[in-house]
Amino acid sequence: MAHSLADNNPPVETRMPAEPAPQKAGRFAIEARTLRKVYKASGNQPAKEALKGIDLAIPRGSIFALLGPNGAGKSTFINILAGLVIKTSGAASVWGFDIDVNPRQARASIGVVPQELNIDPFFTPAEVLEMQAGLYGVPKRERRTMEILAAMGLEDKADAYARTLSGGMRRRLLVAKAMVHNPPVLILDEPTAGVDIELRRQLWDYVKGLHARGTTIVLTTHYLEEAEALCDTIAIIDRGEVVCCEPKEQLLARISDKKLIVRPAAPVAALPAALAGLKAEIRPDGALAIQYNPAETGVMAILGQIGAAGIEIGDISTEESDLEDVFLQLTAPH
Ligand code: ADP
Repeated sequence: MAHSLADNNPPVETRMPAEPAPQKAGRFAIEARTLRKVYKASGNQPAKEALKGIDLAIPRGSIFALLGPNGAGKSTFINILAGLVIKTSGAASVWGFDIDVNPRQARASIGVVPQELNIDPFFTPAEVLEMQAGLYGVPKRERRTMEILAAMGLEDKADAYARTLSGGMRRRLLVAKAMVHNPPVLILDEPTAGVDIELRRQLWDYVKGLHARGTTIVLTTHYLEEAEALCDTIAIIDRGEVVCCEPKEQLLARISDKKLIVRPAAPVAALPAALAGLKAEIRPDGALAIQYNPAETGVMAILGQIGAAGIEIGDISTEESDLEDVFLQLTAPH
């Protein structure tokens, strides 16, 4: 049979008993120290330093987002942890197991949900999970096929051919597959790329459910909304470097700026020169958005300037800054 069973979860030869991980690393699900990866030059592709010696510690029990633009190095990082890419230098450990010293235990401690929906269409979800459990050496009596399928809302599809599953169900099946060996850490690589908004929320609920039952979740994403909605801790990675790693609230509090949204009574074609001193823009819907720091500038002063510039104010509101503002500020071209 030439079925592709392995994809992103490399088989381990025997199942690792739940050994206690080294105590000193007990707080972290994943730890990287000056982790570096240089892809060698090939053909006319120059060598690429995808990870520039990153330090990252992901606490146990967190829902952690690795957020960054395309090409930032997110997949390289998780593929090193999963044993799919060989690091150039530095160190990494999963659940306290160093990937060099205890590679099998490190791999047994994570399940990776790949981006691609590559599931053999002729197997049923129950068969997919049974085979994956076999690959990981999970003894028959310890398999939890139906329990995992139920947790992912696929109980009634257990015996349906995978080809009859919708995109959202396939994605949930991949999450289920990554959970068969009961890893304490689940890594989701861009879990909702190309998934419509309703399915995205559904998948978030399932992921939250797994987290509530004790699994540490790490997800890579370039959707700010996803990191903001789902995660308690966020690392932003850009061009192979970690530019910040902090609890979500702390990250959001970094930006003290607010936005004042002014809807002119009559449309404004361009910003009057008198407002050049404000951080203002005209939005596509015609509203003026003015960024300001409440500690420095009062709303009344700004409104006065707008009135003096000849704009009649129809309506006003304010907006808090969001993760997008933080993200743009931290990953601005330099
Ligand atoms: P992300 O997952 O954040 O989009 P990647 O880890 O995939 O980023 O890529 C980081 C950088 O490394 C990119 O510039 C990418 O082109 C490069 N890269 C990734 N995989 C390879 C590879 N197998 N060979 C050469 N360069 C690669």
